[in-house]
Amino acid sequence: MRNERPRWQVGKFTRSRRSDSYSLNKFAKNGSTDNGVPISIYSKNGAKTGKRKRKNTVLANIGRVLLSVMLIGIITACLVVGAFAVYVFGFVDDKIYEDLNQLKLDFTTTVYVLNKETNQYEEYQRLHGQDNRIWVDFDQMPQHLKDAFVAVEDKRFYEHTGVDWKRTLGAFANMFIDLYSSNQGGSTITQQLVKNLTGDNAQRPMRKIREIMRARYLEENYSKDIILECYLNTIALANGICGVEVASNFYFDKHTNELTLVECAALAAMAKEPERYRPDKNPENNKQRRNLVLSLMLEQGKISQAEYDEAVATELNVVASREVIKEVEVNSYFVDTLINDVINALIEEYNYDKTYASKNFYNGGYKIYSTLDLNVQKALDEVYKNDSLFNVKSKKKPGTPVQSCMTIMDYEGHIVAIIGGRGEKTVNRSLNRATDSPRQPGSTMKPIAAYAPALEYNLITYSSLIEDAPITIKENGVSKKWPKNAYSGYRGLTPVQNAIERSVNTIPVRIVQNLTPRKSFDFLTGKLGITTLVESMKNENGETITDINLAAMGLGGCVYGLTSRELTAAYATFGNLGKYYRPTTFIKVVDQHDNVILEQSTNPVVAMSEDTACVMNHLLQTVINGQYGTGRAAKFSSMPIYGKTGTTNDTFDLWFVGGTPYYVGACWLGFDEPEEMSGGSATRIWREVMKKVHEELEVKDFPQSEFVTYRKYCTSTGLLATTSCPSTSYGWYKTTYLPACTKHKGKLLDEVKIQENSSKPKNDTTSAPEDQTSNETSSEPTTTSSNVSSNSDATTSENSSSSAGSSSSNTQSYQSELENSE
Ligand SMILES: [Zn+2]
Repeated sequence: MRNERPRWQVGKFTRSRRSDSYSLNKFAKNGSTDNGVPISIYSKNGAKTGKRKRKNTVLANIGRVLLSVMLIGIITACLVVGAFAVYVFGFVDDKIYEDLNQLKLDFTTTVYVLNKETNQYEEYQRLHGQDNRIWVDFDQMPQHLKDAFVAVEDKRFYEHTGVDWKRTLGAFANMFIDLYSSNQGGSTITQQLVKNLTGDNAQRPMRKIREIMRARYLEENYSKDIILECYLNTIALANGICGVEVASNFYFDKHTNELTLVECAALAAMAKEPERYRPDKNPENNKQRRNLVLSLMLEQGKISQAEYDEAVATELNVVASREVIKEVEVNSYFVDTLINDVINALIEEYNYDKTYASKNFYNGGYKIYSTLDLNVQKALDEVYKNDSLFNVKSKKKPGTPVQSCMTIMDYEGHIVAIIGGRGEKTVNRSLNRATDSPRQPGSTMKPIAAYAPALEYNLITYSSLIEDAPITIKENGVSKKWPKNAYSGYRGLTPVQNAIERSVNTIPVRIVQNLTPRKSFDFLTGKLGITTLVESMKNENGETITDINLAAMGLGGCVYGLTSRELTAAYATFGNLGKYYRPTTFIKVVDQHDNVILEQSTNPVVAMSEDTACVMNHLLQTVINGQYGTGRAAKFSSMPIYGKTGTTNDTFDLWFVGGTPYYVGACWLGFDEPEEMSGGSATRIWREVMKKVHEELEVKDFPQSEFVTYRKYCTSTGLLATTSCPSTSYGWYKTTYLPACTKHKGKLLDEVKIQENSSKPKNDTTSAPEDQTSNETSSEPTTTSSNVSSNSDATTSENSSSSAGSSSSNTQSYQSELENSE
């Protein structure tokens, strides 16, 4: 094609115009005719002009050929120059060459985990795209390594200016005539670097020219050392490995700077044909070629005879293990979560689109300092392998395994462990129920959507008496009483504490009614980082649906629900005096030059005042310690715990969300396709995990707010007791809000001092009840139209609204009083 086109053009050109005019002039000069019509002279009078005409024709033909040759030359030259210009411009535009020191290449990303014993971050896992590459600086490369590559790949490297013309001419000839074997590229190290950088394997002349231009450019702008450094960091060394550092790790379980002479030679031996000379798969090939490398090094005076002899006699110790280079075929749920978190943060911070952010993640050469705690994760993984905890039967589809997930955080937003499902994980970035599957939160919604905001706005206190009675709602034009409780009937005026302990349904609904569902919604979305709630959307039938209503805010009957991760982060505020940290799996991401790319903010949102959070903490401790506590099964030692159970309508979902002074976690149990469960307890799973996690941890108390006080309240009014109140119980109050009993006039009682190190409160039981499910007594409708099927427990027959005295921890003690309030 290349030769045909100009020839065709020249021929056409000559014949149709130039040759004709040539003939005309010729005849004009000879004067044989008077400017006769050329056509007649040329064609019709041929016989008459005879010999002379033939001579002219010969001359004309010679001229034509000469002209043709000239024109071919000129046009070819133009084409070559033009093509060259295109390539040169293309090359100038190529940003890759602007700065070799800031190579925009694909580098492997590494995840680090803090070793708590040494307080050092250790390499945990590497993640990469197509190229697995870790940068190593020139001064960290042994001289033998540099010498070995130069000796075998480009012995005149330090003399030429990017191109070894002798070899290049040979290579050029090779493109047309098959002189050498196929891979004899004739490329210098500089040219090979160009190939590594561009992925442009110059097999065609034009590309070869561009490669030469680029190599010359590199030589003009960079030192030989930088070129060699970049070359050794970009060379492909089989197994998807790029560069000598990952190759040293993989083949020899070493860093580059630890390589011996024979190992250096073994790597240099691979440069020509990495697969063929792999020391792990083709040790004989490698041995032959590395001995050649060594002999070339000897010949070029880079090593002594003694060094040569020793290296040739040395056995190569090849490790070749994925484990060494921290590669994992299937990522853990934690690593999956981390990948998503970093990619999302890149999108948020740098406005990348998803594809670009993802490419950056795998190829950015990032160092990611993760929040993973290996001990906690190990405990979580072990418990999830204990089948006896997941012995739940599916009624509709027998044999379907029950699913579960759990997130564990510290109190600064760090996810220390996460599990997104049960069973063997077989694919990367598979469904992670802890982060991707919002489920109905049931009663776990009550503290965050009803009690905490109401406390925050001083609409209630620890002991406010609220009517346990249904409200009247209209459904399809018909009035009905709603909601039901897990126990039969209603108990009338009940203190907030008791309502939480027993997971009463009517009271949070009344609180949200008073607060307004909008305020609850705003509290959840604005202060507690919940993102899965629906403000307004159209369903399939075109109806507008929303979570801004009593059923969703009061009882957790949401459109979609919440995730384990969201609930964990929201509940963390009850264990750290009200600070909301956005849950994260990484602390910091830096690039390979240690520039900070992403950093987790250390500034929390003040979700609620610390006194509110502290009172909530005490209220939620009664769920575990109270006589009728629905979360009593969570208790695993004398470690103080706050928490809340959740059971949704027809027992489709079981939850336990709770925390110790060390960690907070949310455990969900249910079927992927929601259906009724019998047996199983999220509370028990939570307990088993936390028990393991806390084995070595000292019992301590939650941080206390100085603006919270322990007081007696009047059981008949729920207000703070005075000297004349006949019946009292204990509770926790904000020092700034102490509404005194108005029924029994008298002097407000002083703060109750908690005695340290005295005996435990009598209802603080350390043994967990055996029957798990029956202790999660709440069962709420998911919508206002639902019928509540109560799976209430034996405690429902108790009629008195007794106050199960709340304990804060075993280091605090008080005389628990159980008095009838009338
Ligand atoms: Zn009173």
